[in-house]
Amino acid sequence: MIPVRGFEGKNVAVLGLGRSGLATARALLAGGARALCWDDSPEARARAEAEGLILHDLGRTQAFDDIAALITSPGIPHLYPEPNRHIASAFEAGVPVDNDIGLFFRSFATPDWDQFDTAPKVVAVTGSNGKSTTSALIHHILTACGRPAQLAGNIGRGVLDLDPARDGEVAVLELSSYQTDLARALTPDIAVFTNLSPDHLDRHGGMGGYFAAKRRLFAEGGPDRAVVGVDEPEGRYLAGQMSEGPGDDRVIRVSVTRKLGGPGWQVFARKGFLSEYRKGRQVAAIDLRAIKGLPGSHNHQNACAAYAVTRALGLAPRQIEAALASFEGLPHRSQFIGEAGGVAFVNDSKATNTDSAAAALQAFERIRWIAGGLGKDGGIAALAPHLSRVVKAYLIGHSARDFALQLGDTPHEICETMERAVARAAEEAQAGDTVLLAPAAASFDQYADFEARGEDFTRQVRARLG
Ligand code: ADP
Repeated sequence: MIPVRGFEGKNVAVLGLGRSGLATARALLAGGARALCWDDSPEARARAEAEGLILHDLGRTQAFDDIAALITSPGIPHLYPEPNRHIASAFEAGVPVDNDIGLFFRSFATPDWDQFDTAPKVVAVTGSNGKSTTSALIHHILTACGRPAQLAGNIGRGVLDLDPARDGEVAVLELSSYQTDLARALTPDIAVFTNLSPDHLDRHGGMGGYFAAKRRLFAEGGPDRAVVGVDEPEGRYLAGQMSEGPGDDRVIRVSVTRKLGGPGWQVFARKGFLSEYRKGRQVAAIDLRAIKGLPGSHNHQNACAAYAVTRALGLAPRQIEAALASFEGLPHRSQFIGEAGGVAFVNDSKATNTDSAAAALQAFERIRWIAGGLGKDGGIAALAPHLSRVVKAYLIGHSARDFALQLGDTPHEICETMERAVARAAEEAQAGDTVLLAPAAASFDQYADFEARGEDFTRQVRARLG
């Protein structure tokens, strides 16, 4: 745990008592603050009380008297579509509102670091898609190369649950737009922006607000290095703003759509080969095509970003190449489950929107596509350009019939359940096909979450593979 500094002897309110809220309360107590906890759910309050935490009803009048700060959880809106009422009360009372990320950046560095040979560093990853994969890949490369590293944020542990840093350690944080939007301190050594596509727009008051939330990671503390995906206008704008001139190598540009030129520092992938250029000269090339854990150009983007970060941390290209090859991929993200009779089975249950489903559909050739669930606005209209690789779609869940209407000439069948979809796809598949779960829809109509959906797919597939 990272004890929170700067609030010794003060009252700090904690709103939201899920995983990160409870970790925040503990970390505040460990740092000598009084954590006053609240959640509108009686069950969450009971759990906190059972742990010995102090409850403090933030709905009462004058609840914010003598409170130094309010720390909130990422799921609670602070502005759009409208502020949560407790957060609104804090703003009205003039109480600063922060989150665990802000507390982490205030508290991570300690006087012990003076004794270290190599100061610990923080890498923070944001963007619309690929954050988890990129963060996990950076952590994997560092660990494989013998550098001490810890992984936290949106993925795995809450940031305040990290252990205090060791000599030379790297903390890799995956940060969502909700987290970067509110944090009052954001000072990573290396900041990564993977890409941008519309998501969570209701929470950010539109696309501009969404980009602004992500951009704060680069604007607030001014990272030493910025690794920026430049395949969208927002990334190009951000990279331009971070650079003093064309040769400024504090910015590493990443692309999977074109060869990047110029005197700066660039990492790009084309036709499955990663290239690093610096000062106009090629420094390294890596063949990414055979890496089972990183299929498709979206994963090559993640590989380029992770490569750039670990190069900036001083690793050699050959070390990184060896580590990339041993990355197995994250569960539910283009995860290779198995193969039978030349048919591959891939679980991308995390493809809950059309962007990530499009990425998955571009990663494989002859696809038996399992899709459907709780569809989003517009259904799968945006996927029309990617349907040429779909041999047949097997539709499940609430949106099955809507998706069928949008599929037009693409062969399809309504299967309703995962069990039937896997059975039908496996029966009809031929050598060279990939049976791909990439639903382009949320899972909540049939499952508790996307993990449960991916696990069901994996179970059905394994039962058939024997
Ligand atoms: P995040 O943490 O940003 O949600 P994940 O790594 O969990 O990202 O991947 C989420 C979904 O997006 C998965 O379906 C995955 O296959 C897909 N994906 C992963 N990397 C990228 C990328 N660079 N661009 C587009 N889609 C991606």
